[in-house]
Amino acid sequence: MDVSHLIDGLNAAQREAVSAAPGHLLVLAGAGSGKTRVLTQRVAWLVEVEGVWPHAILAVTFTNKAAAEMRGRCERLLNRPTQGLWIGTFHGLAHRLLRLHWREAGLLETFQILDADDQQRLIKRVISEQGLDDTRFVARQGTWMINAWKDEGKRPRDIDPGDNPDLARWIEVYQGYEASCQRQGLVDFAELLLRSHELWLTQPALLDHYRRRFSHLLVDEFQDTNTIQYAWIRMLAGSSAQVFAVGDDDQSIYSWRGARVANMQAYTRDFPNVSTIRLEQNYRSTGTILAAANAVIKRNSERLGKELWTAAGNGEPISIYAAYNEQDEARYVVERIRRAVAEDIRPSEIAILYRANALSRVFEEELIRHGVAYRVYGGLRFFERAEIKDALAYLRLLANPADDAAFERVVATPPRGVGDKTLEDLRQAARSGGVSLLQTAAEASREGTLKGRARGGIEALLSLFASLRESADGDESPRLYERLEGLIEGSGLRAHYAAQSKHDADSRVDNLDELISMARGFVLSADDEAAGISEMAAFLSYAALESGEGQGEAWDDCVQLMTLHAAKGLEFPCVFMVGMEDGLFPSQRAIDEGGSAQLEEERRLAYVGITRARRQLTLSHAESRRLRGMETWNRPSRFISELPRNTIVEVRPRAQLSRGGNFGQPRKQPTQDWGDEPGIALGSQVSHAQFGEGVVVAAEGQGDHARVQVNFEDVGSKWLVLAYANLVVLG
Ligand code: ATP
Ligand code: MG
Repeated sequence: MDVSHLIDGLNAAQREAVSAAPGHLLVLAGAGSGKTRVLTQRVAWLVEVEGVWPHAILAVTFTNKAAAEMRGRCERLLNRPTQGLWIGTFHGLAHRLLRLHWREAGLLETFQILDADDQQRLIKRVISEQGLDDTRFVARQGTWMINAWKDEGKRPRDIDPGDNPDLARWIEVYQGYEASCQRQGLVDFAELLLRSHELWLTQPALLDHYRRRFSHLLVDEFQDTNTIQYAWIRMLAGSSAQVFAVGDDDQSIYSWRGARVANMQAYTRDFPNVSTIRLEQNYRSTGTILAAANAVIKRNSERLGKELWTAAGNGEPISIYAAYNEQDEARYVVERIRRAVAEDIRPSEIAILYRANALSRVFEEELIRHGVAYRVYGGLRFFERAEIKDALAYLRLLANPADDAAFERVVATPPRGVGDKTLEDLRQAARSGGVSLLQTAAEASREGTLKGRARGGIEALLSLFASLRESADGDESPRLYERLEGLIEGSGLRAHYAAQSKHDADSRVDNLDELISMARGFVLSADDEAAGISEMAAFLSYAALESGEGQGEAWDDCVQLMTLHAAKGLEFPCVFMVGMEDGLFPSQRAIDEGGSAQLEEERRLAYVGITRARRQLTLSHAESRRLRGMETWNRPSRFISELPRNTIVEVRPRAQLSRGGNFGQPRKQPTQDWGDEPGIALGSQVSHAQFGEGVVVAAEGQGDHARVQVNFEDVGSKWLVLAYANLVVLG
């Protein structure tokens, strides 16, 4: 058999990994050394050379996009489809298991995924229902604690409050939240994993079935697995499956979300005879970029230790730009981008990376000003937009009548005259009867206990659902997109958004249309179909799990903006790391912490950022910066001073800063002129899809650049550009 196409071009260590004899393997190697490539080719090798059935292989990747790419590459290498091969993220795979085995998992067949936003809302409600003081028991903190417990595999009964009364209350909140999710058929992200791990623990026959099925488990980015993910893999592997793990301790950047780099050592301990292969050649970056990355990461003490080399030439030095302020920084970066594009670099080959999402705004404004197409990856995602969540709530409620969170959304938008009083009565009746809100509403309507406008509103809603359910039972059952269209029209959602202020309405109605066409183009995967998952269920979970990266147009030819965290595993010919200032990156929290653990994680993040670049790397910082409504003066990031002198050039010495161009001009004074922005005035109560509700406290700029400062109840003060913040003015 000719297997050369599976190992051609690989170096000796890579080849050894791809063609390893049966057994457990750990590939421990730095950035850009071909870990992901090796893992992909290993899958192809197993199928083609070892004769392993695709359906005996399970591969875990870090994003949906990576999963899709891996599948595509395998199919090309093997020259045939890889049906039955499970490739996905931990969340995606856990979700599939729960869909297949909802009964054993103790879930409703129609269960839906609860996103982070709705999760926090629900926890807030539980806190208030339990009569707790919500200034002391803050929903955000509760969400964080509950997720951390779940990531550790803990249920309320597993947590000992000791003599800490607050902790005891929190455990009750966790309990109440669990009960509420259970009743509504809702599963949050952490729950997906926890439940599917519990499937292994409580359903021996099922575990046995999957142990016999999967003879090979492969895991990318192993350094960022958390406790429950590791336990899940370990249980599934049992004593029979072979585990192939690849990772880099220097790129462990999710400890704040429960990831444990120690899982790499645990793996070599918990599994018998794990061989370790190290890859030392970097194929991604120039010598200069690699030297800089090596020098930075060397300062960390907690390392397994490895050094990368490259056969590539030195290439260009790394540019350091000291900006006067954040506007100047954006101007410089966008100008460089325009020049690069003029020289035939494709926009999609360029990335702007930053530590915190809030930094993207000023770059977006500048890109808009110059008509450069860009995509913010992981910002406010399409599926997180208010109008999209509204439309999906209708679909969710159709799929799962127990979903009270969806009912609450549906009953509120478009407004249908159901006031707080009526809603509270419904909630109470639902709670005491142990039934869903939708069912309670139907009963109230039958018994004629609804009054005034609420009655008409609720009856219209009920009959909309009744008619859609009926048409679904007919012979010619409508397609998913037709039902979605029916909901969006019939509920008055489209009319509601169309009636909003002109500028805003267009994009919202467009987004609704986009959703419908997405549903129209949605193809149920062969695996999902085989698992008996309906088109509607698959589409809804796609919307919930999709983190923006797989969206068709997301990777079109535009400049890519994302956080350093989101850039993990990716590579770009041309990278800008912006906002390189102490206090931003490393974060103030890491600096304040005192100890080195947090700072070392920030440094690993810097290493991840630097190693995303293939040919060109630019780091920039601003002397003064306005962020989240505050003016700050930060020193250049310590990570800049950690770069070897011979790898950098300072683009423009500080002394020249005020010369030429419009750099150094005094900042425009904020204006309070709201003449051309109907509807939003200082003091207005507004709502934002991601940040929730708040009050407009300041404003500046005009037209496309008009921005407002909103003091949000939950997340504090933020500056938002009106043109794309999609603020809804309340009341
Ligand atoms: P990261 O740690 O950032 O996830 P990685 O170790 O997974 O990186 P890959 O993304 O697999 O690295 O590979 C980095 C780049 O090097 C890719 O463009 C890949 O195609 C290329 N590459 C890997 N091995 C070789 C090789 N033997 N010959 C040529 N190019 C290679
Ligand atoms: Mg990789």
